[in-house]
Amino acid sequence: PPASGDGADAPHLTIVGAGLAGALLAILLAQRGWSIDVYEKRGDLRELGYERGRSINLALAERGRHALRQADADDAVMAKTVMMRGRMVHFADGHLDLQRYGRDDTEVIWSVHRGELNEALLDIAEQAGARIHFHHRLDSVDFDARIAKFGDDRGDTVREIHFDTLVGADGAGSALRQAMAGVCELGERSEFLGHSYKELEIPPGPDGGFQIEPHALHIWPRGRYMCIALPNDEGTFTVTLFLPNHALPNHALPNHAAPDEGAPGFDTITTGAQARAFFDRDFPDASRLIPALEHDFDHNPTGVLGTLYLDRWHLDHRAVLIGDAAHAMVPFHGQGMNCAFEDCVALANHLLRTTDRGEAFAGFQSERLPNARAIQQMALENYLEMRDHVDDDDYILQRELGNRLAERHPQRFLPRYAMVTFTHLPYAVALARGETQHEMLVELTRDRTTLDGFDWDAADALVEARLPPLPEDY
Ligand code: FAD
Repeated sequence: PPASGDGADAPHLTIVGAGLAGALLAILLAQRGWSIDVYEKRGDLRELGYERGRSINLALAERGRHALRQADADDAVMAKTVMMRGRMVHFADGHLDLQRYGRDDTEVIWSVHRGELNEALLDIAEQAGARIHFHHRLDSVDFDARIAKFGDDRGDTVREIHFDTLVGADGAGSALRQAMAGVCELGERSEFLGHSYKELEIPPGPDGGFQIEPHALHIWPRGRYMCIALPNDEGTFTVTLFLPNHALPNHALPNHAAPDEGAPGFDTITTGAQARAFFDRDFPDASRLIPALEHDFDHNPTGVLGTLYLDRWHLDHRAVLIGDAAHAMVPFHGQGMNCAFEDCVALANHLLRTTDRGEAFAGFQSERLPNARAIQQMALENYLEMRDHVDDDDYILQRELGNRLAERHPQRFLPRYAMVTFTHLPYAVALARGETQHEMLVELTRDRTTLDGFDWDAADALVEARLPPLPEDY
């Protein structure tokens, strides 16, 4: 394909937001000869450095990698990642257990620094011919005149840009979404989790190396709250504390029980000193590894978590939303970015298939919206699993049986986590098959504490009766 889309008849696209989705979409289309302009409200992080405040590192899984491969960006990104083989569970009594994610090291996830990933994508987008305009914050849109107005955080300069089509890759607080909602009904609703998060850091040890097992996602599950830690390639770990925030409404969790009075929360633990005492009590092994806990707790922002649902992602042929702007989700399946990257490939394919943008956007929405809904639901369910179930005996037995059934029936039984994380099966398929599998596991382990004397013939028959074979090329 032509390297750059500056030919007079190259199709043109205006993208708002040069974060993860905006940069990847720019690459995919610029590499195929499109003329691409991207407007980003922040400065160029390759010059200014990464601003703290968003999650520092992210788990990249097969779906995200698959999308990066379509953009020839996988090698550049993978050079900056740390492999994570499974969850290292830190139990309350101090013992550790590595729960592998997959069968072997072909089924793993990868920790990557958000800033380094974004930088790599911006470089590749520019090499492909996309023009990225920093310090351009979308403020308002006149859809009839096709004029977008941008302001600049460094001053109040306003620039007006004419556009054919706008793509909103401007994240959960999308300004384009707000502008679209002014002219059409998007069916928007947000559900807050009622739990917030704070990031802390485990520095490298005295020898400059990792202080705990680097090839794992560490979890300290404690019932209603938890900590996790992901490795960074320079020997540090980013620790994220997830705690209830009783001051926030909570209507997102299924079967959510009212919080216990006096339970730890961001409304009761408000200072670094209180956080240290809480860590010493509930996460003592982590507490010893976080020397700047008081400082980080006092200075790092407390992030709010929620799910954003829209019934409609596009305004006829004039504007469309992707990534968090269309479907922000809670981070507990580590799929927000992976899903946003899948969106980019899907939207690029629809745009390349037809010159009718309204048709392309409608096709994109009907392909992706049910899948976004499915991963949003699974992300909420995974929160309960991570903080509450990974150290639970019934869960561990069901997990063991699930792994055994997967070995016996590789063409039919695949744990839901594996379908989401290691395959390209549509999320909605993973959700539906996962529900059937879960019902079977509950049924087959009822009144059991071990798999000793298990009736494998009956279990095999059940799998064959209830689970059709997986498609060939998942
Ligand atoms: P963003 O990354 O938010 O990018 C939006 C861009 O638009 C930004 O550059 C922003 O500056 C710009 N912008 C915003 N407003 C404007 C405007 N008005 N004008 C111009 N530009 C604008 N996902 C995973 O896959 N794995 C994980 O492990 C994971 N962990 C997470 C942990 C936490 C705590 C959180 C909160 C999220 C996590 N996610 C994870 C989700 C992931 O961060 C998002 O899904 C992903 O960043 C979405 O990409 P995006 O490009 O849609 O939005």
